[in-house]
Amino acid sequence: MESLTDKLRGIQRSLQEEPPASRASTDRLSNRFLEQVRAADFGAILDALGVEVGSNGMAICPFHPDNDPSLSVDVDRGLYHCFGCEAGGDLIDFVERHRSLDFVEACRWIASVVGISET
Ligand SMILES: [Zn+2]
Repeated sequence: MESLTDKLRGIQRSLQEEPPASRASTDRLSNRFLEQVRAADFGAILDALGVEVGSNGMAICPFHPDNDPSLSVDVDRGLYHCFGCEAGGDLIDFVERHRSLDFVEACRWIASVVGISET
């Protein structure tokens, strides 16, 4: 099983190998694509990131040292908020933070997890 650190290193490597010209040309995402990404199943994304959400909608926060679940997740609305470290935002923001990606990369990562094709 590949660790998250290894995966992040792999992502960094692949980004460095990509020529700057091709990255610049892919920096725009269509509104249609963004709408689909925003409406993606947050539960599936949390699963893919290994974040376990209890039946009360609380999870151990991955953004600060957390022993008691202090991360509140609203899977239906695709939003999260941590009562410990005040991290909060939508599912795209969650993926950006969790995987150290920028906005466009996070959208594409979500699309690949839930099976949205870019149009
Ligand atoms: Zn937190």
